[in-house]
Amino acid sequence: MKCWNCHHLNNASDAECFMCGAVLYSGTPKAHGSLYVFVALCVFLPVFSAAGGILHVLPHFGVNASQLRAGGAPGIIPWILGTAGISACLYVTRTPFPLKVQLLLSALVVLVCWGAYIGFSVGLAKELTAPRHAVGAVPSAAVTLRA
Ligand SMILES: [Zn+2]
Repeated sequence: MKCWNCHHLNNASDAECFMCGAVLYSGTPKAHGSLYVFVALCVFLPVFSAAGGILHVLPHFGVNASQLRAGGAPGIIPWILGTAGISACLYVTRTPFPLKVQLLLSALVVLVCWGAYIGFSVGLAKELTAPRHAVGAVPSAAVTLRA
């Protein structure tokens, strides 16, 4: 079979590549169960968001979550991030890399997705609470809701 690493064409019975010594797989390599933990973490992202989870987390970042809720945010972003993360994690399970590398890649995907989600939410909330929104005769909604 064709080597995934150097594309050398080996015999079907070869367990390792004749050219580079890479381990050859017949069919799809079996994904390790622990990799699906990362898939689950990506599934959890939009669920967490839809449940309003970020509104409970944001105050820990010094952000007024009520402004975010008032803005109807973060909307579709967590769904995009979650879906992208799920696809990326599932893709990693199909790569022929050693488990250690797969776990590292999956963890990286999850970190990027959750990081982007939290970063986006914090950024949006700060944007909504920026001084120019609060300027006016009427007290800002943030103050009203916080009281
Ligand atoms: Zn090879």
